[in-house]
Amino acid sequence: MNAPGPRTAAPGAELTEAERIRILAKTARFAPPPAVMADGRKDLVGLSREELAAELAAIGEAAFRAKQVWHWIYHQGATDFARMSTIAKPTQAKLAEHFVIGRPEAAVVQTSTDHTRKFLFRFRDGQEAETVYIPEEDRGAVCISSQVGCTLSCRFCHTGTQTLVRNLGAAEIVSQFMGARDSYNEWPSPRGESPRLLSNIVLMGMGEPLYNYDNVAKAMRIVMDGEGIGISRRRITLSTSGVVPMMDRAGTELGVNLAVSLHAVRDDLRDEIVPLNRKYPIRELMAACRRYPAASNARRITFEYVMLKGLNDSPEDARELVRLITGLPAKVNLIPFNPWPGSPYETSTHAAINKFSQIVMDAGFSSPVRAPRGRDILAACGQLRTETKRVRAAAS
Ligand code: SAH
Ligand code: SF4
Repeated sequence: MNAPGPRTAAPGAELTEAERIRILAKTARFAPPPAVMADGRKDLVGLSREELAAELAAIGEAAFRAKQVWHWIYHQGATDFARMSTIAKPTQAKLAEHFVIGRPEAAVVQTSTDHTRKFLFRFRDGQEAETVYIPEEDRGAVCISSQVGCTLSCRFCHTGTQTLVRNLGAAEIVSQFMGARDSYNEWPSPRGESPRLLSNIVLMGMGEPLYNYDNVAKAMRIVMDGEGIGISRRRITLSTSGVVPMMDRAGTELGVNLAVSLHAVRDDLRDEIVPLNRKYPIRELMAACRRYPAASNARRITFEYVMLKGLNDSPEDARELVRLITGLPAKVNLIPFNPWPGSPYETSTHAAINKFSQIVMDAGFSSPVRAPRGRDILAACGQLRTETKRVRAAAS
């Protein structure tokens, strides 16, 4: 995966590629470990409703029990069966004999001077991933990781310097959000759209969510379920570096908002800084954006554009960007490059960023400059990279 193959263009080749990605995601080497404790008890977090019902049926519980347990886990945030007051004590004990309601260990929690909070979650096998809570005025987004490491090696990204260690399982993806919610005491879940601090989810942490599609999709279906966490698809944004065939699936099956990490408007430059472009060049990527179902519903696609000094930040680049997105409901997020130790680029000047933004706005698109959040705790975009790996790398 690190060395992208030839460009795909042949019609009909897409399914094969989608299948290939699915197979890769399931490869034992990258698969998440089974959600089972050392004592054999199974973790109920991360199961679909049907799987939960099947697990409970296997210990002789009727279907309504699954509905109750689901509510306790995902609406009330219970981690202990003894708290499930609508369930009789002997049944609570029976559940606790067979199951747990897992949370990853919050190995490190750091809060930035701007109130951004970064969690380093440690999973059962010792692997770790970072999750960031980004507060906004009346709400906030939880930025969730989908993989430990990433296969894609974008040149400006810290995560990309760490090769893929493994995919995160659905339980690990959902429980990052649940762990963040524990930290802010935000249980029970709100009903409907009532405001909460942790109101939105962005799949913009470590990893490429569309290279771990099945686990990400399962996790998103759990968080969207109205009888649990109940976050609407309109409050979830999936960011991809442009895995074209999987964008179609995510759009049809999940209907979440899409963010595309564009970063360059010419193939020669994008080939270099987002190597996946060699497989899915800009023309194919933009076509996939035009097909994205939410876009035809006037829900805007966000184009992320990291501002790299002297590389992609000229007025010509801005004009070409406008040309590419014309006709799409689009918004451009300009991200001043966040440096990390040893990073090969510099952040564009304020003047260049403002000029770029002005050209995009003059063409009628919103073009906010994303204020770097949590830079002091390396929690800003593209700075995430787990400590264990760093320590390991230093030791080797
Ligand atoms: N893999 C997915 C999602 C995670 S990255 C993707 O690439 O879209 C989240 C965003 O941060 C992406 O737009 C990514 O390109 C951007 N990013 C990565 N490194 C960065 C850096 N050093 N400074 C600013 N943004 C960066
Ligand atoms: Fe992976 Fe996204 Fe970083 Fe690229 S920007 S290396 S796709 S996490």
